[in-house]
Amino acid sequence: MRENLLPISEIFYSIQGEGKYSGTPSIFVRVGGCNLTCPGFGNKGCDSYYAVDKSYKNEWKNFSIEEIKKEFSKYLKFNPHLVITGGEPTLYYEKLYPLIEWFSGEITIETNATIFIDFEKYPKYKDVTFAMSVKLSNSGEEYKKRVNKKAILNISKNAKKSFFKFVIDKDLKKEIEDITEGINLEIYCMPLGASKEELEKNAKFVFDFCLKNGYSYSDRIHIRLFGKKKGV
Ligand code: SF4
Repeated sequence: MRENLLPISEIFYSIQGEGKYSGTPSIFVRVGGCNLTCPGFGNKGCDSYYAVDKSYKNEWKNFSIEEIKKEFSKYLKFNPHLVITGGEPTLYYEKLYPLIEWFSGEITIETNATIFIDFEKYPKYKDVTFAMSVKLSNSGEEYKKRVNKKAILNISKNAKKSFFKFVIDKDLKKEIEDITEGINLEIYCMPLGASKEELEKNAKFVFDFCLKNGYSYSDRIHIRLFGKKKGV
């Protein structure tokens, strides 16, 4: 029996569509499984429901780190960023560590920031950018499940390139202030929307909300161009 396998929903090469590195060619490794369900994000939950909902589990494949590396070796000539997303990738942060050690370019981990990472035992994570998409009340999750201040502070102190990325459809400034209190990292807000129509409905409000509060605006390029399509 093979050990140290990771449940992988998809691996693909695309353009990062959100946050600080928006527009950058990137290899995406999407792990399967999440510790949240976010029922507030549409009737299927989040926009990567196929990497969260257990009824899609039979579509996930078990990969070793060596097999993951082989999957994207053909793209390395472009010097892409590596984006590890999900689901919730930090559930597997120990198993993912050899990949973090091996990849020489910029790495982003897209996370809900609820898992406490041992940066002393796994120091290479200090060079990683954590895109902390801490869930707000519009996710439909309970506060105590979606906000782990110790985990957020731990990432903020150790991985200095990290940033916050919030999904917004109304004025949630108080919630953002509660989560980011005392942490000096850039705050991005992006419109809630699993479809182009929903995204556009919320975009203008989020644009104005960012201007008013000094936050950075992030669009969601892949939803505008491809909607819910996978592997893009
Ligand atoms: S935390 Fe992210 S991946 Fe997990 S259910 Fe919520 S939106 Fe989906």
